[in-house]
Amino acid sequence: MTVNQAFQYELDPNNRQRTGIVRHAGAARFAFNWGLGLCKLCLDLGRKVPGSFELHRLWNIWKRTEVPWWAAVSKCAPQEALRDLAKAFGNFFSGKAGFPRFRKKFEDDRFRLTGAIKVLPRHVILPRLGKIRVKEDTGKFRGRILSATVSREADRWFVSLAVEVERADPVPVQGGPVGVDLGLKCFAVLSDGTKFEAPKPLKRLLRKLQKLSKAHSRKKKGSANRRKPALALARLHRKIANIRRDFLHKLSTELAKTKPVIVAESLRVKDLLKAGHGPEWDRRINRAVMDSGFGMFRTMLGYKTEWYGSLLILAPENFPSTRTCSGCGTAGPELPVSRRIFRCGTCGLEMDRDLNAAKNLVKLAG
Ligand SMILES: [Zn+2]
Repeated sequence: MTVNQAFQYELDPNNRQRTGIVRHAGAARFAFNWGLGLCKLCLDLGRKVPGSFELHRLWNIWKRTEVPWWAAVSKCAPQEALRDLAKAFGNFFSGKAGFPRFRKKFEDDRFRLTGAIKVLPRHVILPRLGKIRVKEDTGKFRGRILSATVSREADRWFVSLAVEVERADPVPVQGGPVGVDLGLKCFAVLSDGTKFEAPKPLKRLLRKLQKLSKAHSRKKKGSANRRKPALALARLHRKIANIRRDFLHKLSTELAKTKPVIVAESLRVKDLLKAGHGPEWDRRINRAVMDSGFGMFRTMLGYKTEWYGSLLILAPENFPSTRTCSGCGTAGPELPVSRRIFRCGTCGLEMDRDLNAAKNLVKLAG
């Protein structure tokens, strides 16, 4: 079977290449923001948001007259950015994400290319940009390249190659099904009682991040004083993202390899964010949810269960996993987030709320 995978390398561009990379990122950002402005205008006029195809068509008409100097940039960069925009609106309309926001210079510097991309032992060849040195060894690289995404993190540039890889068909995983409840207190609780805590360094770094971002927002906008902490912030973000990704990869691999059926909630982050508990509570919960990477975890579980021959079942969107008694099945009132113990008014069952939820989820395995 073929599966999709990604390989990431840090780029080590020369000055000419760095200029080209910055120009491509600028073109992608420009096209994205141009498209978003257009979509907003359509919405204001009560019209439908143009789809990916229509955006491309309008973009091609517009750029011919307005930005003919753009010959130096691969046409892929703006096109792929518009594709991202169409996808962002799709996610917004289906409730999976918030309203698309404008891309900012430095913060959202990235672009995607397709076409003639190649990986050499110490280099990557990209359309228009040429043969760029990479800082890591590419020895493990394999697969058919679909696209390359170049992105900036602080003062460094990375390329992520999306590839299609041929894998041996998986052997079915043995054992019983398991329910997984994702929580804010403990990252994951399984219906068999196993608990997975988020790594400690992550918690420490998140506290550091909070302090640093506060200090950063106090500095005057656009001042030289603000640039330095901005760099430190971006580095810290990257460090946190790496630790989190690593943790999520380990956990999702372990589950997909050892549990034949995994049942998880299909929690819509957007709804959770809107849970009414006052603005202060919302802010804290927002952070916690985003930080814990639920969405990323579910995505990983999705493709890894396919790789390893297990099955991922997502509970129906409004499945009352938290407020249903896993003993007798009675659904009670909604539990406040602060209450850690589930108590059943009918049969008297008392259980850790996350474990109770996981036990309800595993029943969906049927
Ligand atoms: Zn009960």
